[in-house]
Amino acid sequence: MSNATQLIHSIPTDPLTGSLAVPIYQTSTFVQESPGVNKGYDYARSGNPTRAALEKVIAQLEAGTTGIAFGSGLAAIDAVLKLLKAGDEIVAVDDIYGGAFRLFTHVYEKFGITVHYTDTTDATNVFNAITPKTKLIWIETPTNPTLKISDIKAIAKIAKAHACWLCVDNTFASPALQQPLLLGADIVIHSATKYLGGHSDLIAGLVVTKDEVLGAKIKFIQNASGAILSPFDSFLVIRGIETLHLRVQQHCSNAQAVAEFLATHPLVENVYYPGLTSHTNHNIAASQAKGFGGIVSFTLKNDTEAAAVAFVTNTQYFKLAESLGGVKSLLCHPAQMTHKSIPVEKRRSAGVTDSLIRLSVGLEDAADLINDLKHAFKAVATLESAIKQTTNI
Ligand SMILES: *Cc1c(COP(=O)(O)O)cnc(C)c1O
Repeated sequence: MSNATQLIHSIPTDPLTGSLAVPIYQTSTFVQESPGVNKGYDYARSGNPTRAALEKVIAQLEAGTTGIAFGSGLAAIDAVLKLLKAGDEIVAVDDIYGGAFRLFTHVYEKFGITVHYTDTTDATNVFNAITPKTKLIWIETPTNPTLKISDIKAIAKIAKAHACWLCVDNTFASPALQQPLLLGADIVIHSATKYLGGHSDLIAGLVVTKDEVLGAKIKFIQNASGAILSPFDSFLVIRGIETLHLRVQQHCSNAQAVAEFLATHPLVENVYYPGLTSHTNHNIAASQAKGFGGIVSFTLKNDTEAAAVAFVTNTQYFKLAESLGGVKSLLCHPAQMTHKSIPVEKRRSAGVTDSLIRLSVGLEDAADLINDLKHAFKAVATLESAIKQTTNI
């Protein structure tokens, strides 16, 4: 669904009261006329009208049949993994979200599920990693934090040919930019904590399936395992989605301006942003998405943690925090924050060098954001001249 009118009006008004906003049904249970005779809801883990409204909206947004809402992005990922059984195998993108890596490796491998990590930016690597036991292919595009792009259509074809599911973590792009189910994927997951919620005020996860039978299986897992999203947080995600298209447009144009500024800065070594024509997979990004998103990463010529710390502690508008996708700009230093638990050599070889800084470009004025970054670069330059002076002594 690309049309903002359609999106806004897919959010229902309340059939009982006419309430324009989706009401928060803060209840655990629903009164029954006689056993089993009810108005469509019996117990709020199994179903809640506020959550149901969100599930319907996200299914439409992602062009799927079934939406399922969870208490976090990781709970959504966990529900998809529960489709598998001992002996099954997964082929996953090598620079996968750290929390997904932890769940796959430290929880699911214990239950006999094997994960093969590979560089999915080249679809032939996916083909080569598949075995007769492969049931699921897991990609993120763009990835975190180096914004690598994988070809969803090409990988979907490989999945189809080997009768396995392709699941795309669409958190970074959001359905405003990219709809993986229309490109052949079977499942989409979101950390709705990020762009869908959009205001850094909740934790939530969503799954959407193309196929109704698969959707019913995940709905069964949602009820059986119980990691549901609360009515209040469902309301907040719906409210975030109402302005998704507008926000994402501004995130994209601000991020493009920031990336272009960084690309010309003398203290910067590499800039990672799919919207730059210098990005390795710029063309694939341009063909499968309507925009390049709000995340920009870069490394410093002075590739040290000290230089990165000087940078991230000298911004005013970019706040130092984990997470992304909100109204306010954030920045983080993955080597000491999101990617701290990854062994140093593995982290560096994935491109997450000691000075890499990730920006979540928010909705402030682009010129103000660029001035904020200029100020932080001055702190890096000052640090460098101080080091030169001490080494001269
Ligand atoms: C944040 C994030 C997750 C995990 O979501 P939570 O809501 O924090 O549980 C998964 N995938 C990606 C790409 C993320 O950025």
